[in-house]
Amino acid sequence: MARTLAIDIGGTKFSVAGFNGGELSLVQTEATDRSGGPRRMVDQIQRICQTWRCDLRFVPDRCAIGFGGPVDFPSQTVTMSTHVSGWARFPLVDEIRRIVAAPVVMDNDANVGALGERFFGAGRDCDPLFYVTLSTGIGGGAVIDGKVYRGADSFAGELGHVTVEPDGPECLCGFYGCLERMCCGLWLERDYGRSAKELLTDPGFVRRYVVPLARGLKAVIMILNPARVVIGGGISKAGEALFGPLREELNRQITSWSHARRDILPAQLGDQSVLYGALALADQYL
Ligand SMILES: [Zn+2]
Repeated sequence: MARTLAIDIGGTKFSVAGFNGGELSLVQTEATDRSGGPRRMVDQIQRICQTWRCDLRFVPDRCAIGFGGPVDFPSQTVTMSTHVSGWARFPLVDEIRRIVAAPVVMDNDANVGALGERFFGAGRDCDPLFYVTLSTGIGGGAVIDGKVYRGADSFAGELGHVTVEPDGPECLCGFYGCLERMCCGLWLERDYGRSAKELLTDPGFVRRYVVPLARGLKAVIMILNPARVVIGGGISKAGEALFGPLREELNRQITSWSHARRDILPAQLGDQSVLYGALALADQYL
């Protein structure tokens, strides 16, 4: 029975998990120290692994990482992090391999989350599946025939930087009115001075919020005709207060001309989509 170390690196927190076979037996989540950069995070991961190894006898045979930013999959390198500096071309896989002394595979966290929901969550037996994470930033991942679709340059599924408001404000990518700029947690808080969680308790706000969000999802539905779209990340925890108005708005924007289904569900694995997806990624590549 394989022992898998799963690592989920996000813009505000990171999690390390231990799987015995298919069973999640250990999880530890800590805040991302943005000023400490990648070096500090690798040290934190090393400390957790050492504790698990010595105190709990958890010695992994393999490790899979979901990284919160673009990853060049063929070369297994971090391209950059949009939200945390110091990550461009940081040799993360080499560093983690040194710590675990076992094979390591890495992909973008939204791609990994997509695998998690596809095999263990709300997207079981749904193919093609599209997964969206509505969190600090916005990411997307497509699973087709059970595999992540990465495109020619590992940049497929980057739904966060689809333009949904051409005259909108400037995004971190340098262009204007991207889905991430209009709908992610980081910008909601900067624009409105209140957390996404708080804003989404206001039905009037939700009605306005779902308009650009549905524009982004419409693009996915038109291009991919997924069997289901699963939405994860902190913002998706708003539940029916968000999903009800979102489905209505999607049905307004996608007319009856299209026979593509609009099957939109919240993630079932909550904060663990990426951790379970890492298990699936390890099963596929290691
Ligand atoms: Zn952008």
